[in-house]
Amino acid sequence: MALDPSVDIGRKVWRSCTHCPNADGLYLLKSNANLVYVQCPLCHNTWWLDTKFGHGGGPDKSGNP
Ligand SMILES: [Zn+2]
Repeated sequence: MALDPSVDIGRKVWRSCTHCPNADGLYLLKSNANLVYVQCPLCHNTWWLDTKFGHGGGPDKSGNP
């Protein structure tokens, strides 16, 4: 799969890929409430990721570089 043409490389999600060793962040394709649709720049997998934002559970400790 190629990179999604709608990818905005200026908006990255600072999570490690769950499909490959990439730990350099994921491209953010779209978002829906606390879910974001991300694509790995390395293996090009896409999936919905729960950011846990909006749950009132405090700061996301893994969300910042
Ligand atoms: Zn990957």
